[in-house]
Formats: sequence, structure tokens, C-alpha cells
Amino acid sequence: METFREEIRSLKGEGLYRQMRLLQGCQRSRVILDGREVLLLCSNNYLGLADHPLLKEAAIRGIAKYGVSSGASRLVSGTMELHEALEKRIARFKGTGAALLFNSGYAANTGIIPALAGKGDVIFCDRLNHASILDGSLLSRAKLVRFPHNDMPALRRLITVNETAGRRLIITEGVFSMDGDLARLPELVALKKEFDALLMVDDAHGAGVLGNGGRGAIEQFGILSGIDIQMGTLGKAFGSFGAYVAASEEIVDYLVNRARSFIFSTSLPPSVLAASLAAFDLVDSSEGALLRGKLATNVSFFRSALRSAGLDTMGSETQIVPVFVGEPERVMDFSQFLLEEGLFVQGIRPPTVPAGSCRLRCTIMATHDRRDLEQAIDAITRGAKKLGVI
Ligand SMILES: *Cc1c(COP(=O)(O)O)cnc(C)c1O
Repeated sequence: METFREEIRSLKGEGLYRQMRLLQGCQRSRVILDGREVLLLCSNNYLGLADHPLLKEAAIRGIAKYGVSSGASRLVSGTMELHEALEKRIARFKGTGAALLFNSGYAANTGIIPALAGKGDVIFCDRLNHASILDGSLLSRAKLVRFPHNDMPALRRLITVNETAGRRLIITEGVFSMDGDLARLPELVALKKEFDALLMVDDAHGAGVLGNGGRGAIEQFGILSGIDIQMGTLGKAFGSFGAYVAASEEIVDYLVNRARSFIFSTSLPPSVLAASLAAFDLVDSSEGALLRGKLATNVSFFRSALRSAGLDTMGSETQIVPVFVGEPERVMDFSQFLLEEGLFVQGIRPPTVPAGSCRLRCTIMATHDRRDLEQAIDAITRGAKKLGVI
């Protein structure tokens, strides 16, 4: 046990030790942390659906009708009417031939990627892709080539020098989770066509939020085809839990037979499925459009105020607004200062982001009001001056 104690000591010494924070009550724009109300600025519940009455009522009705568990994996006896209904709903929303549920985004990426690529194939992965994409790629045993973030000429070069007789799989996030910038989807679609590669987009942070209809990064760019595998999560803007892939019928059929995290895991329970169905209806409604509009207004107010104050919000183009700090100790001091000011923001450190690029990761919600944002801008600006960030 001494070795673990030693490891923890060294994490603490490097400013990289992590701890969970306990929240009481619901996930809202203000939450109770250690018995005290604080403004929540680090949740992915972007549209505020996590405690929406329609989702809660749907979950309760789902339990009343179907119970609390699916009791088995999908290919055994764990496929219920709600799984089928939700998959149809997702495919209709995304405009694809089919959709398939996974138990989480992590499970989706570690299941989909090894199913699509293996020995002899090459995976081209944006350097800033989420840990679950990296883990899925490593698990696949395909050759892994990481390209510099959003650098299309570099990707082109790397595809050219990494010849293969097998498959090429290009993977990107739609909205990068720690930087809040967008993938270069039109260029990626062109490259994928030129080199006859498969293109997979993880839109965990874009789906529900971007585009007039909330279809995500693809709608933002007006891309109607060319993305073979669209992955998204249900625990972020959709306020529920789980994940999906939207793709052609053939790819979905193949994944049912080959994605191990799908095959060997008990399926999502009725409450989660019913809440997710209600979430898609909501996101797809005029109320959803209203929430997206409110979120966009909040984001531009918040980000332009921080930029005017001289802060570096990196490449942010979305509701994810990083504030560049640099070193781990300083970012932790910054988030501690903000907590004392009644603001809950996480400092992001390696291995989540590259060394030297520690940042506060602020996430904006549709349910923040002007007073919330003004309080946040004021506290962040004062903290940045106090800690010498500006
Ligand atoms: C959150 C996230 C995941 C994981 O999704 P979970 O449902 O939370 O497991 C995958 N990819 C990206 C880009 C994410 O941000």
C-alpha cells in the first residue's frame, strides 16, 4: 500500500491531486456545495434539462410502466420497447438510417472504435480528442496517428505518408470539450472523400446545442452527408444519461455484432430511456429553440466581457469558455479564489489538457441569468488580477 500512498504524495506535490466535490440537491444554475449556495459554472447541463419537469415526469412514468432495470444486455433479453423507440427517435432527429444506444459516451467510444478499426488499419486522431477516443483507439490495435489540433494540411500529409491496405478512420470531436472550438468539418469531409476514409465525429458537446434545430456541429456547418459515424451523449445538453451512435443501417447492424461495450453490458434502464425520449422531444421543439437562443446570448455576453477584460479565452466558439492560466498550482489557486467568491469553476490540468495549458473551464447554461453572469465576470476578472493572470 506504501506505493499508492507515495503516488498520491507525488500527485499532491505536483499540484495534480484530484478530489470530488459533493453537491446537495438538484443540478441547477445555483447549487449547494458544502452547505453553501454557489453559482455553477462547470456543468455540461447546458440547456438546464437535468431537472426539467417534463423529463422527470417521463422518467417516473417509465418506471411505473416498465420497472427500474432492463435485467440483461441488449442481445440477451435487455431490448425493451423504450430502447427501440429512443433509437428510432434519435435516427429521425439526426437524419440517419439508424441509431444505436450505448451506456455512456466512454462506453460508446471504447466500443465503436475497436469495432471499426483493427490490426492493419490506421486511425487518425485529433491531438485534443477526448480520453475515451484515445482509449478506444489504443484498444483497437490499429496504428494510431495523432494529428496536430485542427491542422488539415498536417492531417493530409500524415494520411499520405501512412499508407495502408486496410481501413482509414478519421476521428474528431465536433466541439472540443476543453477548448470550446469547432472541428473543421467541411475540410474533414473533403479529406475523407479524397482518401476513401471513414469519418467519425464525437459531438458530445455540440448535439442539442448547435444549429437551429440542435442537430449539433453538422447543422452548424450545414453538412448533410459525409459523416459516417455520429456519436453523441445524453448526459450533457440532453440532461439524461447514456450515449448513441447515429449511422447507416449497415454500420449499426455491424456494431450490434461487433462493439463489445454494447454486447457485454446490461442495457440502459427504463427511467433513463423515458427521460431521454422526452429530452429529444424538448430539444426538437420551440422551447428547445428558445433555450438555444438564450444560451447563445449568454455565451456571447460572457465571452466578450472576459475578452474585453484582457483574458485569453483560447479558441472558444461555443458555450465552453476556457480561461487560459498556464501552470497547475495557479489554476487551482484561481478556482479556490472563485469558490470563496461563490463561484464553482473547475481548474483543468494534465492529463486532461497538455502540460503548461492549465485553464479554468467555464461552461455556460441557458438557465444562467444576467446577474449570474455579471457576478461570474466580476469575480473572474478580480481573481485574474490578484493572481497575475492579467
Ligand atoms: C463527456 C464526453 C464523453 C463521455 O461521455 P459520457 O457519457 O460522459 O461517458 C465522450 N466524448 C466527449 C468529447 C466528451 O466530452
